Amino acid sequence: MNPTPWWQGDQASYQALKAKYTKEAIEHLATYFHLNPEIIIYTEAATPRTFARYTARDRGVVGGIGQRIPTFGPFGFANRTPIKNLWLVGDSTHPGEGTAGVSYSALTVVRQISEN
Ligand SMILES: Cc1cc2nc3c(=O)[nH]c(=O)nc-3n(C[C@H](O)[C@H](O)[C@H](O)COP(=O)(O)OP(=O)(O)OC[C@H]3O[C@@H](n4cnc5c(N)ncnc54)[C@H](O)[C@@H]3O)c2cc1C
Repeated sequence: MNPTPWWQGDQASYQALKAKYTKEAIEHLATYFHLNPEIIIYTEAATPRTFARYTARDRGVVGGIGQRIPTFGPFGFANRTPIKNLWLVGDSTHPGEGTAGVSYSALTVVRQISEN
């Protein structure tokens, strides 16, 4: 997802965009579930600006760099770097993506370090 629209405009346009996406999300969910204003007691929405504020992620992007064939898995950033004793783990590194992926990337590095 392109996060740029969430960073443009003033506070009023941001709130309007957030309200629009929230409404559309609920309408979409209502095609699967019985939802109406009597049933929905509380809603809360998070946007890329929310993720940036609470998780310090660049522009609120979730999941590291966009995944496509040239950036995915073995074609993505390796854990080993050309700099001695500098390793990369987490989002965007192999295998990356999600808590399981980032944990596995850390485990891979620990194994490589402990075998040296
Ligand atoms: C809303 C949301 C929902 C998600 N849902 C899921 C899910 O359901 N399942 C799933 O598997 N994954 C999910 N993810 C993705 C998952 O959270 C990430 O893949 C994972 O947390 C990435 O781990 P990481 O250690 O690479 O980065 P992070 O967890 O982002 O950790 C990076 C850390 O570095 C810190 N930091 C940043 N800059 C600096 C700096 N300059 N100096 C010092 N510290 C710094 C940050 O504060 C942060 O603590 C979700 C993410 C978000 C935001």
